[in-house]
This record gives sequence, C-alpha cells and structure tokens, in this order.
Amino acid sequence: MSLDPTDWNDYRKQAHKVLDDCIDHLENVQNNPWQPIDSQTKNDLAPKLPKSGASDHDIAELLTKTVLPTATGNIHPKFFGWVHGTGLTSGLMAEIVAATMNSNCGGRDHGATYMERCVIDWAREIFDFPEDASGLLTVGTSQASIIALACARSKLFGTDIRHKGVSDLPKVKAYCRTGTHSCISKALELMGHGSDCIVDIPTLGPSGSMDIGILKDAVQKDRSDGFLPLAVVGTAGSVNTGAFDDLDALADFCTEEDIWLHVDGAFGAWTKIAEAPWSELAKGIERSDSVAFDFHKWMSVQYDCGAVLVRDGDLHYNTFANRPAYLAKQAKGLGGGDLWFCDFGTDLSRGFRALKVWTAFQAHGLDAFSSAITENCKQAAYMAELVEHSDHLELAAPVVSNVCVFRVLNSENAFNSELVHKLQEDGACVFSTTTIDGKTLIRAAIVNHRTQMQDIESVINAVIEALEK
Ligand SMILES: *Cc1c(COP(=O)(O)O)cnc(C)c1O
Repeated sequence: MSLDPTDWNDYRKQAHKVLDDCIDHLENVQNNPWQPIDSQTKNDLAPKLPKSGASDHDIAELLTKTVLPTATGNIHPKFFGWVHGTGLTSGLMAEIVAATMNSNCGGRDHGATYMERCVIDWAREIFDFPEDASGLLTVGTSQASIIALACARSKLFGTDIRHKGVSDLPKVKAYCRTGTHSCISKALELMGHGSDCIVDIPTLGPSGSMDIGILKDAVQKDRSDGFLPLAVVGTAGSVNTGAFDDLDALADFCTEEDIWLHVDGAFGAWTKIAEAPWSELAKGIERSDSVAFDFHKWMSVQYDCGAVLVRDGDLHYNTFANRPAYLAKQAKGLGGGDLWFCDFGTDLSRGFRALKVWTAFQAHGLDAFSSAITENCKQAAYMAELVEHSDHLELAAPVVSNVCVFRVLNSENAFNSELVHKLQEDGACVFSTTTIDGKTLIRAAIVNHRTQMQDIESVINAVIEALEK
C-alpha cells in the first residue's frame, strides 16, 4: 500500500495552506515569542500511538495550529538565550526541496555529494584551511568535536587504535580553558579516556584567553609524569562570556610541542567574517589541526548543521573509512563518485544538510552574514553600555564579541534567575543565565539577524521596568 495521497489536488491545497501559515508566522515573528505550553497542548503533542491515519486537512491543522505555536522562540528578534540560531526564510525553501528529494548523503553519486563538497570548500576558504584539508557537515559542534578528537588520537597513536582499542594505551591529557563547552568532556567520555583527563587551564579574567604560561607548565609536568598530550582545545567564543583564546599563541605552542590543536569555534569562529576589530578575535584559527563550528548558530541556517574541518584530510579519512562489500565503491553508476562523506564520520545515512547552507550563501551572500555578525557584536557592546549607565545593573565581564553578562546590583542569585524567568513568561524577551565565581548572571548571546539596536534598548528597559515593579 502506498502512503502517497489518494487525492493529490487536496494534498496540494493543504500543503500550500501549511506553507502560507508558516510564512505568516515568519512575517509576524515579533508577535510570536516563546510561551509556556498549557496542559491541553501538552496532551495534544503526546497522543496515544495512532493506529489509523488522519486526512491531509487534519494534519495541516495539527501542524500549524497545534505544533507551530509551541516553538522555542529563537526566531524572535528579542531572543538571546543560550546560543540559538535564528533561521532563514531561504532555509524554509531549501528544506521543502530537501524533504522532497529525501536524499541520503552518506555517499554515492548524486547532487547532494557535490553540494556538500562545495560547502566544505567554502568553509575551507573562510577559515583559510589548505586545499587538502577535509571536512564534514555534522549534527552540530558536539558531533564535530568527537570526530576532531578521534583524529587527534589517530595522529598520536596511529589508526591501529581503531582495532586495538584504548585499554593498553598510555594515559592522555587534554588541555582546555576553564569553562570550555561540555561537548569536549562528552567526547572524551565516549572515546574511553574519561573526562578526568581534562586539564582545566585558568584564563586571564572572565573574558580573557587561556593562560599560556600555566598551560606550558601543566604540559611539562604531565609529560614528566608519563602522560601524553592528546590535544589542546582552544576556544573561539566561550559560552559564558564570548571570550577567545589567543589562537596564534596556542598554535605556536602546539607546533613547538607537536600537540594537536583543536578549536571549538561553535559560534565564535564566524567572527572571522566580521568587520574589524572583531575579525581579529579568531586570528590563528587557520593554524589549527581541526576546527568545529556551527552553521545553525551565528550563520542562522536551520537546525541542525555543524561542521568539522581537519587539516590532514588523509588522517581524517583513515580514522573513519570502513566500506564493507555492500558499500564498495563502483566504477560508475549511482554507487560511483570519488568522495563519500560516510568515510569521514560515524554516520552512514545522512540528511541533506548541505542544501540549506548552500542556499543560505546563494540567497544572502557572504557580505550579508558579515554585516549581521558585525551588527550583533555592536549590539552586545551597546547592551553593555546601557547596563553600565543603569542605576540598577552591573556588567559582570567585559564584552569582547556578542555575549553580554550582567546582574542586578546588590541582589541575591535567585533574584536574577527569577527575573529572567519572568521576562520569558511575559513574552518580553529571552535571556538565559549562567554562573561565574558563584554569581548568577543574566546572559545575552546575540546571534540574531532580526535583532535591531532598538530591541537592545527595549530589552534593557524591560529588565529595568520589571525591577521597578
Ligand atoms: C553550542 C556550543 C557547542 C555545542 O554545539 P552544538 O552545535 O550545540 O552541538 C560547543 N561549543 C560552544 C562554544 C557552543 O556554543
């Protein structure tokens, strides 16, 4: 039995209706902030396993009336929580085509493979990686980090490790700035080294870089104690404060010591395409052995899409390639093609992520992203200015890129988080919170191409108004 419509005309009508409702939602995005989900909707979102289906009309209603209003709200211009990308109208079109094609992008000879290769080439160009570097689109930076650190391990121990496992290996250490994203510890846990192998290197202030002097001493001591350095993980854009490590200094040190330099550039790597002075923040990223970054954060591409670039493309291939007979490369036909992306990561079946990235660049052009990213940095600086001029608020760390952290003067920790919850629930704006030195901070990470300067004023005013009430 085919699952296709019996009445294509009706399907067409309903699908057009869904599209129109989605476009209405986007056009009126400023009226669609996150709102708490009521219990009726929670039930509607989790019905009993359906034994029989519904009409296209009912499905269209369900999608647009029940599901659409329950969004996270990160497409709203006053959303600054965590680091959530905003999405693109071009992405909506791309996703319709991707869903229609339903390509499996693990390999074989079809359009998606050429397009992913193109997108990786563009990323190589942006981050100044050499032509023989390899790359892969991933779920996000978390998956990209696992792939990158697995490559680092192949470099250190050889690709035999794939068969022999880790039990007989010497103990390794990985060096990260304090506050490095948790995806690095998860990667090391999965790889069997355990997150205890992470050596936390303090930073020069909350918005400063990793202290290289302490890093040098730690590596020297660990080496003399018989540990092997697996990698130094540099951060381009830290979660808490948007801080950057001095990547050139890390690259100098890693070259000297022959240690793999991985850069977590989830959002911050993209300052590379911003205007000066922000374009200087990620200087040296081009010297890293691997870099992980997201298209779904600051580049606004629809979820999910991250990427990894690995300088030594052969090593990357040899760390993951494994083609049993049923996947053997064919001389021609659909099973041909000289580049199969399943050879560069853990996933065989893969969605068509390249299309939404490719469409984003084609639709808007690099310059528009450069301006949007520059603008977000200016907005974070402006927010800091407003905070500093307020009698109620204090800035918690200098703003270096697009993250602004502050708190209410002379307040308890809980007061700050309650304020954030209230603003979210009112639909006024979304900040998230973090903790530095035991203090709860209100945090804005601005990666939002819809945000205008007046939104920055309006959210700080909303904070102050909520305080005065
Ligand atoms: C978001 C983020 C990650 C994790 O990336 P995902 O795409 O969510 O997997 C890692 N590092 C930093 C600095 C991040 O902001």
